[in-house]
Amino acid sequence: MSNTKSVQQVLAPPAPHMVGDGFRVHNFFPSGYEMGLLRMSPFFLLDYGSKIEFPPSDTPRGVGVHPHRGFETVTIAFKGKVAHHDSTGNSGVIGEGDVQWMTAGSGILHKEYHDVEYSKKGGPFQMVQLWVNLPAKDKMTPPKYQAIEHGKMGKYELPNSGGVLEVIAGEFEGVKGPASTFTPIHAYVGRLNAGASLDISLPEKFNTGLLVVEGSFQINEKEEVPTDHFAVFKNDGTAVKVATNEGGVFLLLSGEPINENLVPYGPFLMNTKQEIMQAFQDLNNGKFGVLED
Ligand code: MN
Repeated sequence: MSNTKSVQQVLAPPAPHMVGDGFRVHNFFPSGYEMGLLRMSPFFLLDYGSKIEFPPSDTPRGVGVHPHRGFETVTIAFKGKVAHHDSTGNSGVIGEGDVQWMTAGSGILHKEYHDVEYSKKGGPFQMVQLWVNLPAKDKMTPPKYQAIEHGKMGKYELPNSGGVLEVIAGEFEGVKGPASTFTPIHAYVGRLNAGASLDISLPEKFNTGLLVVEGSFQINEKEEVPTDHFAVFKNDGTAVKVATNEGGVFLLLSGEPINENLVPYGPFLMNTKQEIMQAFQDLNNGKFGVLED
């Protein structure tokens, strides 16, 4: 097929590292592989917390108060529960199937911990954290918090009880996702039953990747993508075929690239060095608000 969006590379999960004491993540990009800072733009970072069993703890594990400016952090829960608090007063707990879409914009302080009740019991934990860049004109937008419960996702039912495609953002076959985004993005979670397949059409120039969260998938009747692997697509067509023998869960991300100069520095994602220095100055001057540890 001439309009196939073909797979460029299937990436194995890089060695994990800890973020705080609560998140053991594989960084697929930007640092895990030399894909270039803008290769997956508007997605800047993908930290994947593959499934892990946390023992019970009276003190929730996690990461303490830290700032962000110039982008959005998106947390997608597959197992376990995460609590979030930020300096605008927003807070929430997300569990299996839920998504937290936080716009840091002009600046925010937040902390991310395992939910207290989950911590006491312990158990399986599996998450994705994604950093979505903002275009220069929106980098200083006011902070915003979208808590998107599993039940609120757009749902496309596959024929023949093949499973469901949940639309977080963008749309699929007329089914729209609840997340509002600053640039065009399609984000789907596919939960497919054994033997199911699905044809997905995505804009040719959108940067696209597929993370296998459970089971394994065949892409375009060609590449096999096992659990915890990430397939990066070329920008050479529109048609993607996803199929699974054993059944499984995938996360598909596809977005219009933001072709602007990017200067990442720690928790900030800006367009110039000057703006990074300004971010530190504003942080030191208390412009990101206040949040207790
Ligand atoms: Mn954060």
